[in-house]
Amino acid sequence: MPDSLEKLNEEFSDWLGRLAVEWAIPLEDVSPHLGKEEIADRVKCYPAFGQAVRQSPINMSDVEGTGGECWALGERFDRIRFREFCSNPDSADVVVSLVAHLPSDDDEAAQHIDTFVENCRSLGYQDPKTDGFNASSAGLLASTLLTAAFPKRFVDFRQTRWKEFADELSYRLFETESPSYGEMIVAAGTFAQKICGTETFQQSWPAGEPLWTIAGICWHAHSESGADRPKDAPLFPYEEDFDEGALVLRKHLIQERNTSLIQQAKDMWREADPQLRCDVCQFSFAERYGEIGEGYIEAHHTKPISTLKDGSRTRISDLAKVCANCHRMIHADGECREIEELRELLRSE
Ligand SMILES: [Zn+2]
Ligand SMILES: [Zn+2]
Repeated sequence: MPDSLEKLNEEFSDWLGRLAVEWAIPLEDVSPHLGKEEIADRVKCYPAFGQAVRQSPINMSDVEGTGGECWALGERFDRIRFREFCSNPDSADVVVSLVAHLPSDDDEAAQHIDTFVENCRSLGYQDPKTDGFNASSAGLLASTLLTAAFPKRFVDFRQTRWKEFADELSYRLFETESPSYGEMIVAAGTFAQKICGTETFQQSWPAGEPLWTIAGICWHAHSESGADRPKDAPLFPYEEDFDEGALVLRKHLIQERNTSLIQQAKDMWREADPQLRCDVCQFSFAERYGEIGEGYIEAHHTKPISTLKDGSRTRISDLAKVCANCHRMIHADGECREIEELRELLRSE
C-alpha cells in the first residue's frame, strides 16, 4: 500500500473507533449499522435509475420515475427541479451528452460536468423570479446521474457532506480554493475510490457496490453532531440497568480496545518490555501462561473519557499497560483510579 493510502486507512479505522466510543458499542458492531439505511436505498434505487439513464433512446419519464425514488434527490426542492428538468424536451439531449460522452480523463470529465451544470440553468435550475441559479442542486443532479451510470467512478455529491467526511479523515478533498462543481464531483469520486482501497473498508464491508456503500456512510455521517447513533444499534448488553456512570465507563473500556493507536502503543511497549508487565503489579501474561499469554496486555486510558473534549486526540503517553485484574480494580465501582493509587495499595499489603 502506498503511504497516503496507509494513512487514509489509519484515519478511517480511527474514525470507526471514535464512532464505536460515541455509540458505546463494540467496534465490530459499527460497520453493520453505519450508513445502513442510506446504503440500502442506493442498492434499491440505483440499478433501475442507471438502466434508465443509459437506455437508448433515452426515455425521460423513466429517468424521472426511477431517479425520483432515490433519497439523494429526495429533498423537496431538488425533486421539484428534477421533475421540471425531466419534463423539458431539451433535457434528454443534455443527459445523453453527459453520460455518453463523458471523458475518461479526470480534468476533462470535470469540464464536461461543468458544461452539464451550466446547461441546467435553462432547464429548471434557475429561479425565474429571483434569477438565482441553483448550481448546487444542478451539481447534485449531475452527480446522481453519473453515479447511476458509472457506479465505480462517482458518488452522489453534496458539498458539505463530503467536505465534513473528508475532514473527519484528515483528507484534503479539493486542490484549489474555489473548485467548480465538476472538479468537486470528480474529487469526491476519487476520495471514495481511495477509501474503497483501504484494508479497513475491505474487511468491514466485503460485499456490495463499494462506492454506494461509501456514499451511504458519508451521508449518514453528516448531521449536526456527526453521525447519529443508529436506532437499531445494540444497547449496552453488559449492563442491564446502567446509569450515566456506567455509560461513561463503558465508553472508556470500548475506547481502550478500539483504535489503531492502541496497537501502536502495544508495539512500543513490547520493544521496551518484551514481557509486557503490568504497570501496577508487574504481572506478565507471557510468563504465567506461556504461549497463549504472549503479547497480551490491556490498555488503560489514564485520562477518564468524560474529561476529554470532543475531538481531542489520545496520545500513547496517556495509556498505561495493565493486567486484567488491576484493570478491573482500577474501574471497580465505576471509578477510574490512578495507577499510583493501586501501586500504593499493593505495597502496603
Ligand atoms: Zn496488575
Ligand atoms: Zn481503563
